[in-house]
Amino acid sequence: MLTSICGINWGDEGKGRMVDLLSSQYDVVCRYQGGNNAGHTVINERGKFILNLLPSGILREDVVNVLGCGMVVDLKHLYEEAARLRAQGVKITPDNLKISDRAVITMPYHVLLDCLEEERLADKKFGSTRRGIAPVYADKYMKKAFRMGELFHPELLAERAKSIAEWKNLTVAGGYKSKPVTAEEILEYFKQYGEPFKEYICDTGVYLNEAHKAGKKIMFEAQLGALRDIDYGIYPYTSSSSTIAAYAPIGAGVPNLKLDKSIGIMKAYSTCVGEGPFTAESFGEKAEELRKAGGEYGAATGRPRRVGPFDVVASRYGIRCQGADEIALTKLDVLSYLDEIEICTAYKLDSKRIDEFPFPDVLDKCKPVLETVKGWHCDISGCRKASDLPQAAIEYVRLIEKLCDCKIKYVSVGAERDQIVVL
Ligand code: GDP
Ligand code: MG
Repeated sequence: MLTSICGINWGDEGKGRMVDLLSSQYDVVCRYQGGNNAGHTVINERGKFILNLLPSGILREDVVNVLGCGMVVDLKHLYEEAARLRAQGVKITPDNLKISDRAVITMPYHVLLDCLEEERLADKKFGSTRRGIAPVYADKYMKKAFRMGELFHPELLAERAKSIAEWKNLTVAGGYKSKPVTAEEILEYFKQYGEPFKEYICDTGVYLNEAHKAGKKIMFEAQLGALRDIDYGIYPYTSSSSTIAAYAPIGAGVPNLKLDKSIGIMKAYSTCVGEGPFTAESFGEKAEELRKAGGEYGAATGRPRRVGPFDVVASRYGIRCQGADEIALTKLDVLSYLDEIEICTAYKLDSKRIDEFPFPDVLDKCKPVLETVKGWHCDISGCRKASDLPQAAIEYVRLIEKLCDCKIKYVSVGAERDQIVVL
């Protein structure tokens, strides 16, 4: 059984908390793309956890977690994240964490280049998380990146460190006039932060295929959402990896296996962190109220998230990209303060109504078509079954389900593990 948990929107839909909940029925949880630009907040009976690189399954003692080959892994960040979680009582050993030998390593110079480029762009910046993600994926496709498995071949590694430092300095020192990178500091980085993980590194394809054959249930955890996908998202305001469910088997190490189910995580309203077109965006006091109600500040960066009403056009597109079989609609409780709730049901482009998500470059010219429905205006955070929910809340969920044409199976009404209604 292979299931993917993926984002329908711009990210921060609550994927981590849904993985935390649903992983009780799974044996393995794999991250398959992205790096420590992820920020998944999970609150359960063990405490509050922020996960950047580690899969959210790490919080369950009997789940094995995998960092797949589609990921970029900042070893220093992983070292510190593991230490932070261990201090919170989480067990992390080679038995419950496997790192793909093909996963790419994010180096300190990738982080540096990310920052230098954002500064160079100044007011035209992308709103990068400044964690080196775009530079390291660029190097991967330039075939100038280091991979985990290389840590086992010190002689080859020393040679490559020399040639990569030389090449990297064409941009670091030559282009950006920053301090040159040296082969010595590259090797020192591997020694300090790579050595401690050597026992965790393996061929995750072999591990996952064996687990699958033995009847184990495997879950894939995405970072970000469909609209941040490198191919299908709002390019160039996307991430640099594939956030799409169909990529999960490839990025985890099992391109031979097919997904059985894709669960799309979709927020009851819209949020977007960073730059880029965001058609349904609210501004001023209206936005501030929603941002406050939803606590919409990035887990990875602390940046205030841009907010707006639920966007049917973008969500329907996201559902299609993710091939979602069912939806978890998250943070419904956040809308409880509203008398009336707006929904963006279509876009207007050059005074024509459009229902299909357009080529991203025209999004700046799109205006939202807003409709208003009745709010429920009461606390729903204690609801645990459909019959506990007020009629107006049920109607809101059913309307979204109809407009998006995908079954909503779960509704979350609070950040804690049990604050969920199964429909
Ligand atoms: P992810 O990146 O998709 O895992 O999502 P994030 O963790 O970045 O953002 C979701 C935020 O909403 C986190 O702070 C969660 O604790 C919180 N959250 C998740 N589900 C709910 C919910 O149903 N209600 C409320 N109020 N907060 C939620
Ligand atoms: Mg997040």
